[in-house]
Amino acid sequence: MNDRTIFEQIINKEIPANIIYEDSLCIIIDDISPQAPVHYLAIPKKLIKGISDLNDTEDKDILGHIMISIRNQMVKMNIKDYRLVINNGSEAGQTVFHLHIHILANRTLGWPPG
Ligand code: AMP
Repeated sequence: MNDRTIFEQIINKEIPANIIYEDSLCIIIDDISPQAPVHYLAIPKKLIKGISDLNDTEDKDILGHIMISIRNQMVKMNIKDYRLVINNGSEAGQTVFHLHIHILANRTLGWPPG
């Protein structure tokens, strides 16, 4: 049985995704069910289940790197306003247990989120 997450399979190129950006530490892909005209997912290649599972030392650099990669991608696309969302745990809406940051842009976003 394949118990790896969908994102691990995308990272390993076992299933397709529209890749926006990729380097040795992270990948940014189109969300398959977009909630805004731009809806990307920034995913560390290392399997970290969620924010609760971050390693105090070794994951600092990975998270910092992902944030800079997101910023760079938004600059490249000339998108100035965007929302980053991390759902941590099923009650918060997490459905894929491989840490990912939603990037939402190009529409007015309400607050608070549902
Ligand atoms: P979350 O609910 O925060 O865990 O977010 C999981 C996200 O993964 C959802 O927005 C889904 O639409 C998205 N998703 C699920 N399967 C795929 C896939 N194969 N390719 C791209 N995005 C996906």
